[in-house]
Amino acid sequence: MARRTKILATLGPATDKEGVLESILAAGVNVVRINFSHGSEEEHLGRVKAVRKWAQANNTYVGVLMDLQGPKIRIASFKDGIKIQLNNGDVFTLDADLDENSGNQSAVGIAYKTLPQEVEPGNVLLLDDGKLVMEVTSIKGNKIHTIVTQGGALSDKKGINLRGGGLSANALTEKDKKDILIAAKAKADYVALSFTVNGDDVRETKALLAAAGAHAGVISKIERAESLVEETILDIIKESAGIMVARGDLGVEIGDAQLPAQQKRLIKLARSNDRIVITATQMLESMIKNPIPTRAEVFDVANAVLDGTDAVMLSAETAAGDYPENAVKTMHDVCLETEKNPIAKTSHHRLHEHFKDIDETIAMSSMYAANHLGVKVVAALTETGKTAMWMSRMSSNISIFAMSDNVQTLRKVTLYRGVYPCGIEKSNANDWSQVNEIVIETLTKNEVVANGDLVVLTKGMYKDKSGGTNMMKVLRVGDSNY
Ligand code: PEP
Repeated sequence: MARRTKILATLGPATDKEGVLESILAAGVNVVRINFSHGSEEEHLGRVKAVRKWAQANNTYVGVLMDLQGPKIRIASFKDGIKIQLNNGDVFTLDADLDENSGNQSAVGIAYKTLPQEVEPGNVLLLDDGKLVMEVTSIKGNKIHTIVTQGGALSDKKGINLRGGGLSANALTEKDKKDILIAAKAKADYVALSFTVNGDDVRETKALLAAAGAHAGVISKIERAESLVEETILDIIKESAGIMVARGDLGVEIGDAQLPAQQKRLIKLARSNDRIVITATQMLESMIKNPIPTRAEVFDVANAVLDGTDAVMLSAETAAGDYPENAVKTMHDVCLETEKNPIAKTSHHRLHEHFKDIDETIAMSSMYAANHLGVKVVAALTETGKTAMWMSRMSSNISIFAMSDNVQTLRKVTLYRGVYPCGIEKSNANDWSQVNEIVIETLTKNEVVANGDLVVLTKGMYKDKSGGTNMMKVLRVGDSNY
């Protein structure tokens, strides 16, 4: 039985070591994440090339997601790179006028120069992903005076978040705009937009991608408190190919206690709007240094699967950890085992709703038929992947094969839960009337089905026509006539 939940793994120095990339891909990574926060254009393009080479050699598809850095707000650096220790009750100043490398025991510079104009006394600032907490006591010119309420060590360039959100930094920085051109060059399948504030950020990113000739879908990272407002999140979701529950920064902004409920809400909202959802950050954090996970981490991955996530993400566990292959194997095992639970297989999706389109109706009906007839697989002939997306929003244990001769589509569906990309030869598919036979032949050749198995097939009247699915057929493998 194949795993339905997809694994997204971040590449980095650990996966650049001889044989490691190949080992994590072989262990089941479906999509790789290239993080624009670290590394050069050459490194990014080199990694994408290596992934595509492996996929081609192994006759499979691996998606590429390139993650824009976004406006991460950071302190500047300390003199001579020192690390300072702050204790509860210490006074400390964030000073936009201080030189970049002049931080000391009482003050440090800030890269985000307008911060003093955007905070007020009483605000809570969280540094280094919330490890240090400071309360603003006063603002004088470009200096933010604070009192430390949770002490700890502080070193160069650590991030700053404002509890409750509300900072005005645009989601897209000048660096992000340049990185979009690199993503276009790499033919990325997805681009992740960090610190998405609203739907306008997504619209701008899509326009920039289109101008660069890129086909990448936008994954909006939900990590700002203000993006959680109902109207705003719905606009973001509808404009995006999908969202990422970016639990790191989101947890810092809204407080960790609110995260589990928000994760469940965001997964539900994305799925009900026919969009992808990725659950990210610290899923197997302890495996950066340990060969096995904690029980709590196993439960975290399993709960995301039960919530209905399309993909679970590995960050430093694969990019910089000591056990990247173990981390992927652990995720694989936990997802596979959890998917056996009835909660992961049953759905009331759209049960009492009217369908808007003919293709959506065919997609939904096929899943209903497949479920009740007990067919082996659903095969969706798809130009853009849309039919497979509709099908995969219904929780089930039916394998959905997205069958296409469009490589971009085949790579995109690598992120959809329960959907498996299956290429069909362009030349073979030219005679559209014979496509049923080609589908059964391809599935048989790939050992997905055998004689006697039932297959539900969906297709449109015409080849290459996007949005034209209007037929469903039930075929029995081995019959003389399809
Ligand atoms: C996060 O904050 O959870 C996240 C995924 O973002 P980053 O790119 O900073 O890891």
